[in-house]
Amino acid sequence: MNTSNNTINLHKKTVDFLKTSPSMLINNEEVQSGSKKVFATKNPANGSVLAEIPLAEDIDVNMAVKAARKAFTDTWKHVKPSEKSDLIWNLAELIERDLEVLVELETLDNGKPLNKAKYDVLGAVAHLKYYAGWCTKIEGTSIPTDTNKLVYTKREPLGVVGLIVPWNFPLMIAIWKLAPALACGNCCVLKPAEQTPLTALYLGKLIVEAGFPAGVVNIVTGPGLPTGEAISNHMDIDKISFTGSTEVGRKIMLSAANSNLKKVSLELGGKSPNVIFNDADLDLVLGGLQWSSFYNSGQECTLGSRIYVQESIYEEVLKVLKGKTIKMTIGEGIENPDLGPMVSEEQLKTVSNYIEKGKKEGGNIICGGNRLEGKLADGYFLEPTIFETDTEDATIVKEEIFGPVVVISKFKTFDEVVEKANDTKYGLAAAVWTKDISKAHRFANEVDAGSIWVNGYDLFDAAVPFGGFKQSGNGKEMGKSAIDLYTKEKAVWVVL
Ligand code: NAD
Repeated sequence: MNTSNNTINLHKKTVDFLKTSPSMLINNEEVQSGSKKVFATKNPANGSVLAEIPLAEDIDVNMAVKAARKAFTDTWKHVKPSEKSDLIWNLAELIERDLEVLVELETLDNGKPLNKAKYDVLGAVAHLKYYAGWCTKIEGTSIPTDTNKLVYTKREPLGVVGLIVPWNFPLMIAIWKLAPALACGNCCVLKPAEQTPLTALYLGKLIVEAGFPAGVVNIVTGPGLPTGEAISNHMDIDKISFTGSTEVGRKIMLSAANSNLKKVSLELGGKSPNVIFNDADLDLVLGGLQWSSFYNSGQECTLGSRIYVQESIYEEVLKVLKGKTIKMTIGEGIENPDLGPMVSEEQLKTVSNYIEKGKKEGGNIICGGNRLEGKLADGYFLEPTIFETDTEDATIVKEEIFGPVVVISKFKTFDEVVEKANDTKYGLAAAVWTKDISKAHRFANEVDAGSIWVNGYDLFDAAVPFGGFKQSGNGKEMGKSAIDLYTKEKAVWVVL
């Protein structure tokens, strides 16, 4: 294990956590896997092993599901809504208390800059506090009918839910799922991504400290196979909430269909259009275009990975974007650069292959495209890359790259760019930049994506529903919509 670095002194709790073999959480007990198998989690900034992590197999997942089922039936159902609210709020406060530790663990494990990791952890806190408020507000309705009967509906928890999380925003996305699932009265089996398990395992300690009854939250670690599949195939899990690739989302739907027809909600990939009209406020556009293209080293599902610029301002936009991109600093997350490494060597290879394909298919590289050498050569660092292309069916325009690669092209008319924006299997997000309010609303009406941002990018709030259309997924997380995701509606008929 190598936790030393030359730039900052890690918090004592971070160092201690990494030293003491991070454990899974089952029934409020810190456990290793039954088989004692482990896998390594690495620091993507230098390839060193941060810790050995338990590798959960069917037997471990079964234990977690059993604990969750028992907690659901015997305990959590009977905890008053206001007490659930207090527990969720306690967890938020413990995360705030250990902010520095969680930020460091996220940075070491995922590679992202410390200040960006801090933003994620604070986002997790905000989410927990928002859903703590929902525990006491989950209501049904009464429905007038043509008959002399009283009909009312109740929203009830689903039971045991499996929460499967990706590596790009490890703690934040875990909490996007955990907070509403708990507020709605479910018990959970959470699986972080195998590349970034550390913050979820640290969260396990905080869950116990917050006072959650045993079995309400269980955390298991391991890769898609066997751990993820053991969850998605399980006969006693009532729902899977999944965030990750479209390819794995499809497998999860199949697992649900082939097992107990558990409910499935999916937050999947994206290839979001970022459309700039020539009547846009250019200072506003250019102030953040490099961030909406490369934030989190491009490893973010909503990023504006297809930029369309109206032709009269195209050269100016491209020039400024290039200037800002080549000035972005790249380095180890603990040094707080603009961009950290790719999460893994595998991801670096995938993205590098897309860059090669982009070149072969006639894309013109404006800047970037290379792996970093020198003192960063041991890490998985890639220069932010701008591709110019007018070939709409090029692979780099069609497929999600999930790395610091953006494609830019010009357009002439509103109708042309709306057609291009919609010419994708994805429908996660889209942005439009214009001072013409009716054009902005027409764009919002005509583009088929779950979130539309007007004169801004990547705007999120715990209160606002988020989720994609088409092959970007189904179901909305956040806001009131997440209450529907984690409850079932029961109709009660009373003959008067
Ligand atoms: P991934 O699909 O490879 O893995 C996601 C999770 O699924 C991991 O925990 C993994 O272990 C697990 N998994 C893998 N195979 C499984 C299986 N057969 N059964 C059950 N679980 C399995 O995704 P990733 O590479 O971790 O994340 C990148 C992807 O996530 C990108 O496509 C990105 O767009 C997407 N993403 C979407 C959103 C969103 O909100 N729409 C947010 C973040 C990331």
